[in-house]
Amino acid sequence: MRMCKALNIQAARHAAAALLLVLSGTCVAALPASAADCPGHPWALGTSRTLVVDPTEHPRIGTMQYEETLPLEDHEVVLTFDDGPLPPHSAQVLDILAAQCVKATFFIIGRMARSFPEGVRRVRDAGHSIGTHTQNHPLSMNRMPIERARQEIDDGIAATESALGAAGGLSPFFRIPGLLRAEAVEDYLASKGIQTWSADFPADDWRHIPAARVYDLAMKRLEAKGKGILLLHDIQGRTVQALPKILHDLKARGFRIVHAVAATPDRPKTPTEPQEWQLHPVSETVAIAHWPKIRGFVFADTPTLPAPALPDLDWRAGRPALAASQERPRRLARGVPLPLPRPWQPPVPAGDTAITLPIPDQSLFAIQEKTQPAIAQAAIAVALPAAAKAAAARPMSFNANASQRMIPGSVPIAERGLKPGPVSAR
Ligand SMILES: [Zn+2]
Repeated sequence: MRMCKALNIQAARHAAAALLLVLSGTCVAALPASAADCPGHPWALGTSRTLVVDPTEHPRIGTMQYEETLPLEDHEVVLTFDDGPLPPHSAQVLDILAAQCVKATFFIIGRMARSFPEGVRRVRDAGHSIGTHTQNHPLSMNRMPIERARQEIDDGIAATESALGAAGGLSPFFRIPGLLRAEAVEDYLASKGIQTWSADFPADDWRHIPAARVYDLAMKRLEAKGKGILLLHDIQGRTVQALPKILHDLKARGFRIVHAVAATPDRPKTPTEPQEWQLHPVSETVAIAHWPKIRGFVFADTPTLPAPALPDLDWRAGRPALAASQERPRRLARGVPLPLPRPWQPPVPAGDTAITLPIPDQSLFAIQEKTQPAIAQAAIAVALPAAAKAAAARPMSFNANASQRMIPGSVPIAERGLKPGPVSAR
């Protein structure tokens, strides 16, 4: 163990030792973040390693919807934050992550980037990965014409690139709003060399639940899966409240943070085996063979996960609690996926309204738009090799009425109280 820690410190300083660290997988798994990883914060959670991924080889990830996910070791976690940047919460999330030297991945909404470009730059300057999340956060990507979906994607990328400026910093990562996937959308993203990120579990922080419940769901779902991509929202006050305890307890329970970044010509991908991209290797369970055929998202693939509280599963007022509690064991016994939460469209919390949010002067953005290059398509428009496409994860299908069932973080941007952005609405 001491040798491992010594290696870790060395790894932070020397590339050669870093290679040794990669080769010594079990050693890495046992390593806590050291004080050397987070100066001034000796008890920080830290970021245990950086995982370099090639989006063209694994274009769809996240077991909530796809059969592949990031190749994480047991007790490794990738944190993701959607829908920002939006002050003050996004800035608070960044502060909390910085205090723990934790690196995450942020999925930026284009209109947010237009309104708060400095927030996007701050995410980049803090060393986090930045992906995009459309221009206007439409909750209809699963049914809109593909031309419009492409425009949403392209505009979101362009707006984020514009906010980042010449220094760049955008990763070819994308998350579909509400996880309302469509194959044509995923194919378009893949054709541009962009990786579609679902998640392995959410913490329902877009819903009207207490921060303590967000913490509870994050930890229970993580414990149930043992590792994975956690979906959070940096625009939510309850997430800001829950995050410190989540990070504290991740460390206390032996979890480690992994920072996912995209491969570049100067940054080769982390060597992995294909089976590492599956949450459960095929050899370990028969069920995985049927995984892509399961319709809808199941919060856990074992009945050991504590049953979500009724408010998490049943949005309809007045539905008898008994009915839901009886339905769950019956479904589990029959192997039927549990029902997904119904869409939650919370009214805008007082702190999130435009009343407290300054809208930068329109001329500022006009200048930026003219001077900043459009999305560097050439950098990420890598044609998907046929072989990689064939090996690409096959997506799970949402139910036909998925749009009415699973809407993570789904507050239409207009409802967040933002005034129309400085960019003319299409
Ligand atoms: Zn979202």
